[in-house]
Parts: sequence; C-alpha cells; structure tokens
Amino acid sequence: MNCIEQIYINGKFVTPLGNEWANLYNPSTEQVIGQVRLGNKQDAQNAIAAAHAAFPAWSQTTREERLAALKRMHQAIIAREDELMEAILLEYGAPAVKGRWMATYPADAIAQVIDALKSFVFEEQIGSAKVIQTPVGVAGLITPWNSNAGFICNKLATALAAGCTALIKPSEMSALQTQVVIEALHEANLPSGVFNIVNGRGDIVGEEIANNTQIAKISFTGSTTVGQHLLTVGATTMKRITLELGGKSPTIVLDDADFKMIMPLILNAGFANSGQACIAGTRILVPQSRLQEFEQLAKHAVMQIKSGNPYLADTDIGPMVSEKQWQRVQNYIRLGQEEGATLLIGGLGKPNDLQTGWFVKPTLFTRANNQMRIAREEIFGPVLTIIPYDGDEDAITIANDTDYGLSALILGTDTVRCERIARKINAGRVLINSLVNEPLAPFGGFKHSGLGRENGRWGINAYLEPKAIILQENY
Ligand code: NAD
Repeated sequence: MNCIEQIYINGKFVTPLGNEWANLYNPSTEQVIGQVRLGNKQDAQNAIAAAHAAFPAWSQTTREERLAALKRMHQAIIAREDELMEAILLEYGAPAVKGRWMATYPADAIAQVIDALKSFVFEEQIGSAKVIQTPVGVAGLITPWNSNAGFICNKLATALAAGCTALIKPSEMSALQTQVVIEALHEANLPSGVFNIVNGRGDIVGEEIANNTQIAKISFTGSTTVGQHLLTVGATTMKRITLELGGKSPTIVLDDADFKMIMPLILNAGFANSGQACIAGTRILVPQSRLQEFEQLAKHAVMQIKSGNPYLADTDIGPMVSEKQWQRVQNYIRLGQEEGATLLIGGLGKPNDLQTGWFVKPTLFTRANNQMRIAREEIFGPVLTIIPYDGDEDAITIANDTDYGLSALILGTDTVRCERIARKINAGRVLINSLVNEPLAPFGGFKHSGLGRENGRWGINAYLEPKAIILQENY
C-alpha cells in the first residue's frame, strides 16, 4: 500500500491540515493500492502565501538564473524516468511500450521550455516605447489525470521561465506520479516557495485557486465544464486564464489516400493514450465513394488492436482510469447503438479474457452522422466514429461542425489539396499525413477546446503582462 501523507509547501514536505483521505486504484485490477491525504482550503492558502512571498525575488531573476534552475529540474526528472513509468503503469494503466512517452515527456517538456526561454524576447523597442514583458504573479496550475506528471512539468517550467511562482494542484487521482515529481523537484533545489504542490479536491483546493486574490493567473488542463467554471469564478478577480480543454477531433481521409498505409496513423490518433486523450482523432471522415473499402480495412486493423494488461509489451490499449470512466464509455457505446450508428467492431462489456480491470473493447462505429451524440461529445475512451462525406467542402463542413477545435488530421496523397483543406479547419493544430509533435509551436484549442496557448514562446507569453515605457528624451 502506498500512503502519501505529505504535500509540498515553501520548500518542505509538510503534513496537510486537511485530514480527508482518497483511495488510489490500480485500474488493471480494480484494487485499492494506496491512499493520499488531501490538503484543505487552509493548506491551499498557505501554499499561495509561500508562492506570493517568493515572487518578488524570483520575478527579478535573470534569464541565466532561470535556465540554471530549469536545467536542474530537467536532470532531476530525467533521473526518475523509470520510477515515473512504474507509477503511471500502476495508477493509470498506460501500456508500457506505447505509453513510455508519458514517462519521458515530463523531462522533454522542461527541455522544450529551456529552448524557448533561451531565445525569448523580454524587451523590445516599439516606436518610442520600450515594451517590457513582466511576470504576472503567482500562478495556479491545475492538471488532469491523463498525463498528470507531464502537465505539471510543462506548466511549472513555463511559469518559472516567465518569472512567476506557482501553486500546483495535480489530479487527486494521480498522487503516485505527483509524489515522484515532487521528490525530483525537491532535489532540484529551487528557492523555497517558488513552487508548491498541494494534493486536494477540485472543489476545495481548486476552488481556492479560483477565488484567491493572490493568484494572478490560472493555467488549467481538464474538462470543458470545469474550465468554464474557472473562467466565470476567475473573472471576479480578473485572473489571466489559460484553458486546455476537451476535443472531438476530426480525421479527414481524402479519396486519394492509400487506406492501407494510413490505417495505423488513423488508429494511433484515435486510440492514443487508450482513447483518454484530448487530441484523439475520434471522428473519422471517410469519402462515401470508398466507405465500404475503408470499413473492411478498419475492421480488420482494429481486430489486431490489443486491449489488456498494460505491463505486456504487445498491449495497445490499457484500462480506463476509473470505474466511473469505464461506465461513461459503456454509456456512449450503448448510446451509439440506440442512435442508429452501425457497430463495426467492439461494443459493450469487457474483452473476453479480461473480466477484472476497467478494460474496454476497442470500438468502431460507422455510418454515423455528425448530429449523433457519439459524434458530438467527448467520450474519452477507445471508441471511434466513422462519418461518411461527399466531397471536400462537405468534409470541411462536418469537421468544423463541432463545439470543439483542438486538433485535426488530414490524410491524402495530394499535399497541396491537404494544406488547402487544413487552412479551412477551425482547430489549434492541423496535422497532415503525420502525428509528429512540434513542441515549439503553440498548442491549444479553438472554441470550447480552450483559451490561449501553451508551448514555445506562446506558452511563456501567457504568464507575462506587456508594459510599455515611453520616455520623452527632451523634457
Ligand atoms: P476534470 O476537469 O474533471 O479535472 C481536471 C482538474 O481540475 C483536476 O485536478 C480536478 O481536481 C480539478 N477540478 C475539478 N473541479 C474543480 C473546480 N471546481 N475548481 C478547480 N479545479 C477543479 O478533468 P479530468 O477528468 O481530470 O481530465 C479529463 C479532461 O481533461 C478531458 O475532458 C480532456 O479532454 C481534458 N484534457 C485536455 C487536454 C488539453 O491539453 N486540451 C489534455 C488532457 C486532458
């Protein structure tokens, strides 16, 4: 049993004043594997006060001092890669091989911030004004359970690069990962109070971040509902807010595409992170003229996808993170059938050989339309929906007919045509014939997928206020 009793405030591990405990589960076995003691409102206030006290000195540090601190963080997190992977396997169930990136990404994210900081322009002359980018203040960083360690490291490194100090409220469901990250960051020996981490409930610690007058900025990754709530509450104290929210991303398969060749990309995009990915390509738009051919190939390809024990090297899809998430996915599979979509493969219940653990059958619906709830709502599980279209303009209309706008994937042989379509898609990121990430490019969503951007210089900018100093020389 893992017993996580302490939080991290002002450079020290402390026992929270809050005395509520939450269970930690192994989603592959459904067993309780530990408990985490949750901070309360006072703990959050203490952490915010520590970050606030550390802000004047940290905000005055030079680029070199911040780079040195980030490099220490980077080294400390790299050294914990295997421990992180173990925690991710245990409490999240990410497949060991396909999910390895989740253990390497936290350090990579810090390295990418280091790159962005090296060339970041903090001061520039604009006409008669000297424009200075000044850190906004204490940042409240709130993360979800899917890739918790990665989000902590990316948000914290970016806030520190800008000269902000921080209180982090990680997902209460990912306390093992959080613990590994805290221990590593403690070893990085940053000034006390510059970062603080409080495990706690969203409606207690999260709410305190949203309301506290000493928090100047919130960076939140999570559901659209909570994001909207933070925007509303944060308005009272004029908080600067970055929101990275949900998605219902389209994968547009063009009629000149080589279906056999692109099928792995389509399924990797859709089933990424066991389907629990904000950027998952869950709506697959297929030309009506080649629908049958696509269905046959897709069905065959999904039959090869293995949902099961995340420790096994050939596992593609691990369990859902919680029973609640499993139920949610089941409800959508039921709904898809009720709505009249054709179930091509997968369906309700657990895979045959896996009656214990929150496992889902990789599921593919076809002949759906874009008004069905399975095509409009984020399922957050390995359930994909094929929607037929007729011509490029129709594909663009369907792709954009969504409340979301996080990501899109376009697959076709004629790359000029692909780019012409990409320019018409309303999404923060449009990938053509590839799933590669460009970490220095902005990441974030249109419409209900979010507000603002993370990564690269856009990420650092989000923690800064531009100030124009205009000097009259001949006074
Ligand atoms: P969630 O919104 O339920 O929780 C996210 C975090 O917010 C958790 O730490 C939670 O404790 C906290 N929270 C809950 N209520 C709060 C409140 N009232 N005030 C402040 N904080 C509160 O999301 P989740 O279920 O953990 O994560 C899944 C969601 O995250 C999905 O919708 C997914 O699309 C989204 N997501 C988005 C991105 C992105 O980059 N756009 C990345 C990953 C996940």
